[in-house]
Amino acid sequence: MIRKTTGIILRAIKFRESDLILTALSRDYGKISLIAKAARRPESKFGAALDLLTLSELVFYEGENLKLLKEASIVADFRKVKREYERLETALQAASLLNQLIEDEHPDRAVFDLYEDFLSHLDYLKRPSMGELAFKLKLLRAAGLAPRLNRCARGGHLLTRELWFSAQHGGLVCSECHQAGDTRLQPGTAQSLKMLLGASWERLDRLALYEDELEIAHRLIDEFIGYHLRAVRR
Ligand SMILES: [Zn+2]
Repeated sequence: MIRKTTGIILRAIKFRESDLILTALSRDYGKISLIAKAARRPESKFGAALDLLTLSELVFYEGENLKLLKEASIVADFRKVKREYERLETALQAASLLNQLIEDEHPDRAVFDLYEDFLSHLDYLKRPSMGELAFKLKLLRAAGLAPRLNRCARGGHLLTRELWFSAQHGGLVCSECHQAGDTRLQPGTAQSLKMLLGASWERLDRLALYEDELEIAHRLIDEFIGYHLRAVRR
């Protein structure tokens, strides 16, 4: 059966002499793998439509065991993002997170829209690293894994000024419930996590977050993601 969708290329692996196996986050079919025959030949009909982080219209044949790409054309190439190292790296980190966190062939329009929006806004965010943190939080929420930030994640208590973050319990914990290994947080950092989760891309640059707070927040969310992924694979 022939199918058509738009998708963002997340990964490309060399296959056989001149083929590529692509992973794309598609609007209609979720994260899919496709074989693109002869895509690595210089005269390939696909051109730049299969470059990483490119939004392309994809026409493919769905066989029993594989999806064979027939045509691809560029919708948006996010050129400005790719030209600057920090932004490129941020976009690739996000792609890698999608690869790890999102199940194959599980259509989810919210996840597709989130990544497309992120790439569309990334070229003019003043602080790409803050954008990346917001993306991680929003992706976790879209995947049903948002850290608990409004109440104590262990005991459900109201949160006081003394706060810790626990990857194991999935969010902020209160002074009664925190354990060895949890990270003490400034109330402002906890508040920033909440704001990042809720803020539109346009508003991000207006959020005040010190560089050291941002670093701590990144580390905690990465720990949280790592903890969750290990739990899933167990
Ligand atoms: Zn508690």
